[in-house]
Order: sequence, then C-alpha cells, then structure tokens
Amino acid sequence: MVRPAVSLRSTATAPGLPPPAAGRSRSGGTRARRWAAVAATAALLTTLGSVPAIAEGPATPDRAADGARPASPAHTPPGTPEKTPVAVGYGGAVSSVDQDASAAGIEVLRRGGNAVDAAVATAAALGVTEPYSAGVGGGGYFVYYDAKRKRVSTIDGRETAPRSAGSDLFLENGKPIPFAQAVTSGLGVGTPGTPATWDSALDRWGTKSLGQVLRPAQRLARDGFTVDETFRSQTADNQERFADFPASAKLFLPGGKLPVVGSTLTNPDLARTYDLLARQGVDALYRGEIGRDIVRTVRTPPVAKGADRTVRPGDLTRADLRAYAPRSQAPSRSHYKGLDLYGMAPSSSGGTTVGEALNILESAELGRVGKGATASEGEATKGGEKATRQSEKRFLHRYIEASRIAFADRGRWVGDPAFEDVPTRQLLQQRFADARACLISDDKALTSPLPAGDPRHPKRCDASGTASPTPYEGRDTTHLTVADKWGNVVAYTLTIEQTGGSGITVPGRGFLLNNELTDFSFAPITPGVHDPNLPGPGKRPRSSMSPTIVLEDGRPVVALGSPGGATIITTVLQTLLNHFDRGLPLVDAIAAPRASQRNSATTELEPGLWNSPLRAELEALGHRFTKNREIGAATGVQRLPDGRWLAAAETNRRGGGSAQVVFPHETAPTGR
Ligand code: GLU
Repeated sequence: MVRPAVSLRSTATAPGLPPPAAGRSRSGGTRARRWAAVAATAALLTTLGSVPAIAEGPATPDRAADGARPASPAHTPPGTPEKTPVAVGYGGAVSSVDQDASAAGIEVLRRGGNAVDAAVATAAALGVTEPYSAGVGGGGYFVYYDAKRKRVSTIDGRETAPRSAGSDLFLENGKPIPFAQAVTSGLGVGTPGTPATWDSALDRWGTKSLGQVLRPAQRLARDGFTVDETFRSQTADNQERFADFPASAKLFLPGGKLPVVGSTLTNPDLARTYDLLARQGVDALYRGEIGRDIVRTVRTPPVAKGADRTVRPGDLTRADLRAYAPRSQAPSRSHYKGLDLYGMAPSSSGGTTVGEALNILESAELGRVGKGATASEGEATKGGEKATRQSEKRFLHRYIEASRIAFADRGRWVGDPAFEDVPTRQLLQQRFADARACLISDDKALTSPLPAGDPRHPKRCDASGTASPTPYEGRDTTHLTVADKWGNVVAYTLTIEQTGGSGITVPGRGFLLNNELTDFSFAPITPGVHDPNLPGPGKRPRSSMSPTIVLEDGRPVVALGSPGGATIITTVLQTLLNHFDRGLPLVDAIAAPRASQRNSATTELEPGLWNSPLRAELEALGHRFTKNREIGAATGVQRLPDGRWLAAAETNRRGGGSAQVVFPHETAPTGR
C-alpha cells in the first residue's frame, strides 16, 4: 500500500500507440446508456480532484521507535502512476485496492503476460500489501473470460473443512461456541485454496510460470511497502489478538507497536515462501514443508505464553492438504436487460443471488440519473431535484426489495453442491424471479426475515414458507479485475475471511491463516429446517464472493467484484444497477453511497444515504435502517466502445483503490 495521493494524470497519448479503434456502430438502449455513462466520466474526473487524501505519516519515521525502515520508493517500479481510481487506455488494465498490487499486474502485462498471468501477480502482491484480506493462507473464486474461445470459465478455490469435520464442528455440549472464539482458532482454519487456484489458472490459461508471475510480489515482500492509514487502522483492529501470537506480533507489530504510517514494512519470510513456491511449485504447500508448518500451526496454535485467550486447535492434517483440489466448474449465468452475466456458481452464493435479484428487476424501470449527471452532481434545478429524488427513491426501494427476496432464497437453498442438492439452475430462472417479484409493492416495504420461495415449484406471491435470517459473515476480503490487450478478462475475489483471518501467522512463513470455516452455520439457522450450510468433511462453506463478468453481444463490457462478506452481493448488485440502469460511469457507480439489505430487519445505509432526505421518504414506506460507515471496496474494468480499457476503483473507501492501464490514453471519447 502506498499513500493514496489521489491525483489525475494529464491527458496524454503514449508514443507508438495505435489510434483509437473506430467504435462499432450498433443500436440498443443499454449500449446508448453505457456510452453516455462513458462520456460522463470526463466530468467525474474533475470531481475526483477534490477527494481528500488520507493523512500522511511523518516524512522520516523514527526507526528505533517503530522497528520499521523509513519509506523507500525502491519497491514501486519506475513510471508507476500515482494512486488514482480511474485510468483509461490501451494494452490492458488492472484494478485493485492497492497501488503496488495493481502495478505488479501492469508489470506482467507489459512483459507480454495475459490477464491470467497479471491476475495471479496482482493477487500475490496483495498477499504482501493486503495480508489481512488475502494471501496463500486463504481461498477465493476466479472468473475468466477467454477471448479466443469466447468462453467464461471459473475456478472455485474455496477452503475446505478437514475430512474429520462433522456438522457439529462448532458445537460444544450441543451448543455453538462463541463466534469470536471460533474466529481466532485453529478450528476455523480451512485447507487453503489460493495457491492451487493460481496454479490451476496459470496451467490452464496462463502464458507464464508461477515463478515468473510471483516475482513482483517477491520483490515487494523483500523490499517492503509503505504503510498507509488503512493498513495501520486494520492492524490496530487486530492488535490485541496479534499480540497473543508471537509470529503475528513479530510481523505486524514491529517493536511491539503499530506500524507507523509512511514507514516501510518488509516481509522476508513471505519473500522466501514465494521463492519456495516459485522453485518447487504449489506442492511445497500441499505436500511439502510449508504444508507441514500449516498443519502444525493449526493443530498446536502458537500462542504467546501468558496470553489470556482460549485458542482451540483444529484437526487439519497433511492428508487434508494433499486431498485439496480447486474445482473447475461452469459459471453461473443470468440474463439481464440484454446483458449476459457470468459469475460464481455455488459454493459461492454470489452468482445465484446477484442473478436472482437482477431477474426480479428485469421488468422494472429503474430510471436513469439525469443526462450527463454524476451521483455527486445531481440535477441543477429545483424541479429537477425533486424528480431526481423521486427516481432515486423508487430505484432504492426496488433494489432493496429485490435484494431482500434474493437473500431469503439464498439462505434456504445455497450450500456446497458436492454435499447439497442446490437448485442453481432454478434459482436463476426468470419464472421463479417473476413469482418472487410479485411480492414487491411500490407503496409498502416488505418485512424481514421474509420466507424463502421454492425455486423448483415457484408459486406466485407466496410468502408462506419458513423464514431464515441471514447469519453474520466477516467483512473483509479483496477483489481484483484485470483485462489484457487480447480481450481476456479476469474477475478474482480472494480472502482469508475476516480482517486478519484467524490472527495466526504461520511461524517463519510470513502469512496469516484463514478463518473461512466460520462461514458455515454453527447450528441450523432455523430449527427443524434443513440448513445447506452446515459443516461436513471436506465441505466448502457457503461464500458471498461475486466476481462477475458482463457480456453484451458476446463480448465483455464490464467486469467487477468487491469484498464485504454478505454485503459483497449487494455491492456488486447495486454497482451493476448504478452503471447499467442508472447510467453512471463505472467509477461513479462504484463511488455512489451504498445500501445493503440481506433479509434482515434493517437495511444498512452508508452516510451518503443515511444523511439524505431519501431516508425519511423510504422510512415512510416502512423501511428501517441502520448506519454503516463503509460497505465494500469494489474494483472493475470496462471495455469502451472505441476499444480502450477503463479501470475503476474506489475513490474513498478503504483509502481509495488503484486503477491502472498499460498505456494511458485519456482523451475524451469522440462519439460512437
Ligand atoms: N468469507 C466471506 C465470503 O466468502 C468473505 C469475507 C469478506 O468479504 O470479508 O463470502
């Protein structure tokens, strides 16, 4: 992570660039809307100039005091642009939450790698700079569009439960153990899927070796990255538990203290881990010495002497690691207003839930934001303001209701399909969505928990089933999106579950272990009703990760995803609606204030909506709200009609993201 000094590059044409390809002339409402959205990006670029930069640390941090080295620019490759949430140009694009990580992907693209190579390079770099969200100790979901074959494929790299796990994994004396104790334990650790995902993706679609794509991340781990405010505050959130594990404390609390903003944090152990993976392949983890250390750490968590904490061991074995295999599976597929959406099928609930909610909204008119307007600008006139608010209110109401319904169905039906009879296809049928959409009234909000429908036997307007509330899921993870010059696209979300995962670093290896198994239900959510998300031997806990690639006329137009536990689904859904229905430029669609309804009594609102008159207007319909400071941290890429790629990231959330392209070329589009 480097300081998010948000700034805009001046418009420039890179020497030797091809001229913009002539836009293909097509008709169609969605395309017209999107193109207007692209044009509005120019206006947005101006507004972004006022995004407040996060407080910078001391220019010369006290080395003795914090144990970290002063910042050195050596780790950022020369020519890396300053952190910015939007970039437009040719040669491929990378968007992630972190500038060094995006730069790692761009470096690989520049060296001739494709989107898959760059995605793995970016992910590995995130393992260094975002170690509390992602790394080789976790898992994730990889969605890939292959331009040559015109096909979308996915890898389910979710962590698995030990083969000894039963449905009572988290029960003691018949009662669920406290959630917080499960989080910081060996018990919550699943077999990591991330190294196998990288290996499988490179093997099937990449052009570079694991060793080649790990190089930028290795360098970053060895030379260090600059600590920013987000990293420091995430460390502060974990300080107490990190202090209880000497290996975590040594790595993340240099000199026993929080790392200073502006200082450089190195991770030589992780550099060596990456080196070992580069030389021996991922067998070093699934069959070799790294795996041995993981198993030892899970079975005998290395707690500091005198730590006042119950840390339960887990029953992970070397046989569990050897048995791990990433799943290659068909993507979830849904159609929405002329678009084709591809995402993750179960074990993630992302694809089915985003898809079902969109199907519910298929025939809803969600209203465009005023022509050329951005979320922050609004309409100029008073009458216009009123009309805009009415339209926003209608949009939010319908979006919230669609999400509420889709979550009711997710909770009842989605689990690991290797263990459960998941009605994936039926959940995505328009017939089912229509039966569910009929529950929505324009005048009155539904109440939650709302009963699930039955996708195999859809009944119109039926709300007579059993209601299952949505359980809590961790809120941290990271998403990256990559496109290359050949038109291949990757949307990849990876995680170690909650911020800081289990809190347990594998001694000498430089990475944290996940706590992904806490995504299982500890006990049936609704007594007497089958819960598809109970633990089982080798089972994958249900996820909400929603890496998504959107095709129009058979070509990718947008890819995106987000962290945020169950709010991932609503963030992806709302961003898609903001962009495709409301007509916002992608970066504005990402920046817009979020609402998240997950079949719970209240809908969460970010301050931008909480403080708006819209809240009272929606409350008048029966909606109830709670405030959430920040929901999600999305990134995306968009293919512009003239052939350029646009990378987009957060303007503010998590300190702002980093959008980069290989050859910036930002002149305003000249029409289509
Ligand atoms: N464990 C969560 C999931 O798989 C992700 C955690 C997060 O996004 O923070 O859905």
